[in-house]
Amino acid sequence: MIYKRSSSLFLEAEKVIPGGVNSPVRAFKAVGGTPIFVEKAKGAYLYDEDGNQLIDYINSWGPMILGHAFKPVVDAVIEKAKKGTSFGMPTEIETKIAELAVSMVPNIDKIRFVNSGTEACMSAVRLARGFTNKDKIIKFAGCYHGHSDSFLIQAGSGAVTFGSPNSPGVTKGTAKDTLLAKYNDLDNVKALIEANKNEIACIIIEPVAGNMGCIPPKKGFLEGLRTLCDANDILLIFDEVMTGFRLAKGGAQELYNIKADIVCFGKVIGGGLPVGAFAARNEIMNYLAPLGPVYQAGTLSGNPLAMAAGLAMLTTLNTDTEVFNRLAQKTEYLHKGIAKVLNKLNITHTINRVGSMISVHFSETEVVDFDTAAKGNNNTFKNFFHGMLNNGVYIAPSAFETWFITDALTYEDLDNTILACENVFK
Ligand SMILES: *Cc1c(COP(=O)(O)O)cnc(C)c1O
Repeated sequence: MIYKRSSSLFLEAEKVIPGGVNSPVRAFKAVGGTPIFVEKAKGAYLYDEDGNQLIDYINSWGPMILGHAFKPVVDAVIEKAKKGTSFGMPTEIETKIAELAVSMVPNIDKIRFVNSGTEACMSAVRLARGFTNKDKIIKFAGCYHGHSDSFLIQAGSGAVTFGSPNSPGVTKGTAKDTLLAKYNDLDNVKALIEANKNEIACIIIEPVAGNMGCIPPKKGFLEGLRTLCDANDILLIFDEVMTGFRLAKGGAQELYNIKADIVCFGKVIGGGLPVGAFAARNEIMNYLAPLGPVYQAGTLSGNPLAMAAGLAMLTTLNTDTEVFNRLAQKTEYLHKGIAKVLNKLNITHTINRVGSMISVHFSETEVVDFDTAAKGNNNTFKNFFHGMLNNGVYIAPSAFETWFITDALTYEDLDNTILACENVFK
């Protein structure tokens, strides 16, 4: 395929935008080459600026669960835009989407809308700290909760239990309040809690990890966290920015039948417009301004276009009772097809899948946490990425990303994807 126009657009962009992109992973640093500029998208397909058609497995990193330019969402946004795009005053549609979200998700009474997943997680942690009157948080290595300072932390060295900044600009002061745990390792979490008695406000986790490739929670892991939190007055925060309204109507809480104390949303909840949200039971949410002392605000929060898109999306997911089954079936079909090809061609791999999240790790071992995810063969991944692209399939340009399956994919698209995989490695 030819990417002439994309390449020249990228050169122009690099002059005025750092790295030519507004979010780093888009720059293809992990796989090499030049990013592809999108002209438009419809259903399961992207159309780039050079006129190539690609089957899309990123789907805007999740929001396009029903396909691109999904008609009910587009229509809702157009109709709303005609009536003004922002007021900074309450609108009825905010209550409508809040009522719907609260009815779909277990164990929440109230929800507050923000503009991104980053904001949702940042605010959820502030609320947890305010509510518990404690400072420290536990996060898991390899989990991503947006780019706010408290989360840009890596494991500290040696005997110290607190983290250290993994980006310049994050202060040591901030880092000392974030403790790093190993995903799927309850004993590790227990030890951190023991070493920081009565200091931990919350544990924040992706209930299915999606930002180190897809990694499912081991049986009993989430239950174990729930028990540890209850025993130590720690709030359990499920970051469902990726899993919310994707794995089930009620997200991972519903799928695994575990109640979190605070739940964060993003991606699907905005139908492709910038929306995030966090939600909890009344006792916790009433701690938020203007009812309570924990401050949180946003000029464009609850923006009418964003709410219209989100409401149209959630309404469809709430009424189409088969959608999550269909998504899971398509993902399973893809899993089996790719596994068959890779096995036949003797390519070492591990495929992880939960619902409509799937990733191919080119790894010899099971992938259960960040360390095992990092052992994957990155050269094989690079070849895979560029090979798939040349065969008309766009997967995320990093081995540490999940593929997002959309309901717009047909079984023919899936067969073509499996065939592309065979073409790459044979
Ligand atoms: C994408 C993501 C975020 C950040 O959301 P943004 O909208 O990019 O700020 C947070 N948590 C998880 C689990 C995510 O996948």
